[in-house]
Amino acid sequence: MNQSIMANQPSLRVLEKMAVAKLPTKGGIFDIHAYRSLVDGQEHVALVKGEVAGHANVLVRLHSECLTGDVFGSLRCDCGPQLMEALRRIEEEGRGVLLYIRQEGRGIGLGNKIKAYRLQDHGLDTVEANQRLGFKEDLRDYGIGAQILKDLGLTTVRLLTNNPKKVWGLEGHGLTIVEQIPLTIKPNPYNYAYLKTKREKLGHKLDEIFETEEDSTRAKHGSNAEGFFDTKGWKGALNNNVEQVTSHVDRRIEAIRPLRKETQ
Ligand SMILES: [Zn+2]
Repeated sequence: MNQSIMANQPSLRVLEKMAVAKLPTKGGIFDIHAYRSLVDGQEHVALVKGEVAGHANVLVRLHSECLTGDVFGSLRCDCGPQLMEALRRIEEEGRGVLLYIRQEGRGIGLGNKIKAYRLQDHGLDTVEANQRLGFKEDLRDYGIGAQILKDLGLTTVRLLTNNPKKVWGLEGHGLTIVEQIPLTIKPNPYNYAYLKTKREKLGHKLDEIFETEEDSTRAKHGSNAEGFFDTKGWKGALNNNVEQVTSHVDRRIEAIRPLRKETQ
């Protein structure tokens, strides 16, 4: 544990560690570290897999609380599946941290998030709904997450996220993000519009989901214009299809050839 950072610089002390315990889950066994913010009293947790203190390039997911998505399996957003997928990848790697930060509804709180849902039921998108309620589109602060990561002894991080703001937010607090790893979840009919808004208005990297609509744009700007676009996905699939059709036609020709000889 990296107590020394905070002990040497008491002016920077913004959180305290409350306790650490084992947390066996369906997806693996983690250590759960509970923290309390000394600024607002809010409690946050970090699920830690393996030894992370002093290790370079640790896999990290910074997850903001979403009661409806995480607990009730709401299909209005992609939070629940993202949480499970992040834990799965950390478990698979055998080392990593999932931060669970209690900033519900992009920081506007649970009740206001439900108010925003009601506005969305009447046609507004997620950004417009937050603005109608008098909030900026995203009030989340990643500073507390960065403080927790520093306390856990991390310096360089590979961040599982589609959201460039998270990268900037953590970088601003003295951690180095060496890689941004996308965490895309297949959309469903209820969150398709929400994901599209996240991509178009909030700058999320969700190209894999919307790739078919984007093919023409990419042709104009070059295949790797946005830096995170994986050409292997759809081009690979296309090549496979072409190969399958070609080999099917070849086989048909082979099958027909002896018949043609007989008839000639
Ligand atoms: Zn959610």
